[in-house]
Amino acid sequence: MEYALQLENITKIYGKEKAVDDFSLSIEKGHIYGLIGQNGAGKTTIMKMIAGLALQDSGNIKIFGDSRNLNEHRGRMSFMLEAPYLEGSMTAYENLQYIRYVRGVASQDRISEVLEIIGLTDTGKKTVRGFSLGMRQRLGIGMALLSSPEIMVLDEPVNGLDPEGIVEIRCILKRLCEEQGITILISSHLLSELSELCTDFVIINKGKLIEKLSESELKIRCRNHLTIKTDKIEQTAAVLEKCLNIKEYKVVHEDEIQLYERLDDIELVSKTITSNGMIITKFVIEGENLEEYYLSKVGDINE
Ligand code: ATP
Repeated sequence: MEYALQLENITKIYGKEKAVDDFSLSIEKGHIYGLIGQNGAGKTTIMKMIAGLALQDSGNIKIFGDSRNLNEHRGRMSFMLEAPYLEGSMTAYENLQYIRYVRGVASQDRISEVLEIIGLTDTGKKTVRGFSLGMRQRLGIGMALLSSPEIMVLDEPVNGLDPEGIVEIRCILKRLCEEQGITILISSHLLSELSELCTDFVIINKGKLIEKLSESELKIRCRNHLTIKTDKIEQTAAVLEKCLNIKEYKVVHEDEIQLYERLDDIELVSKTITSNGMIITKFVIEGENLEEYYLSKVGDINE
C-alpha cells in the first residue's frame, strides 16, 4: 500500500492541554480522507503540523514515506487552512494571476485550466466582491491548485456554505481525486457534509482518534438493521445462517445481532428463531443517520 501521508503517534501540547493526543493515521494515495470532529477537537492543529506551521511535541510525520525532507515534500502539497485571502477589487483571473506571481508558478496557461476546474471560467470581469461564499471558496481551492499539488489539505472548506455550494465543492474535489489522482485530507465538524465525498472517515475528539471507517463501513453502520437479542446469541446466528441463508449480520456487544437482510420479512426471522428454541428479548428495526452515528461516538466520550 502506498501512503501519501503518515502521522505516527503525534502529540501536541498547548499549556497543560493536549490539543492532539497520540494521534496516528496513514493516508493512502489517491484517497479522500475526511477528518471529522467538533470545534476544538484538534483538526486544525493536525493540519498545521502537516503543513509545518506547528511542531509536534512528540511523534513522527512522513510525507511520501519520508520523515526527513519534509519541507521539500511540502512543495508537492497545497494547504487551505483558513479563509483564503482574496482581493475584492480583482476578478477571479486576476486573483489567480497575483498568486501565480507570488508563488512563482511558471505557466500562465495554468490559470485558465484552474478556472475551468473550479467552474469560474464564465465570471469574466466580475470582481470577487460580488462573489457568493461558495464562489470564494472555489477560488480559494483554485489558488491551492495553481501549483498542481499531489496532496491537498483543506480545513473546513464547506463550513457555512449552502447545500448547493457544498455539492459544487464536492464535485470539484471528487473529480480531482478521480481524474488526477490527487490525495485529499479535508476537515469538517459535520460528518454529513463529507458523507458523499470521502473514501475514508476519521473521527477525532479531544485530540484523540476515535474511529476510522471506510466509505462502505460507514454505510453499513448507518444502514437500517434489525437488532435482535436472544438468550443464546451464538446459536441464533447459526440458525439464521443455516435456515435463512443470512450472511449480512454482525454480533455486537456480545449479546445482540444486527441483521442487514430480510428486513422485509421480519416475521419469518422471528418464527425461525423461536421455533428453534431461542427466546427473543429484543426485536427492533433501527437505523442511524450519519449525524446520530457520529454523535453516538463523540457523545460517549464527552459525557
Ligand atoms: P475548530 O474547528 O474550532 O478550529 P479544531 O478541531 O480545528 O476546531 P484546533 O483548532 O486544532 O481544533 O484546537 C484544538 C485545541 O487546541 C483547542 O482546545 C484549542 O483551544 C487549542 N489550541 C489550538 N491552537 C492553539 C494555540 N496556538 N495556543 C493555545 N491553544 C491552542
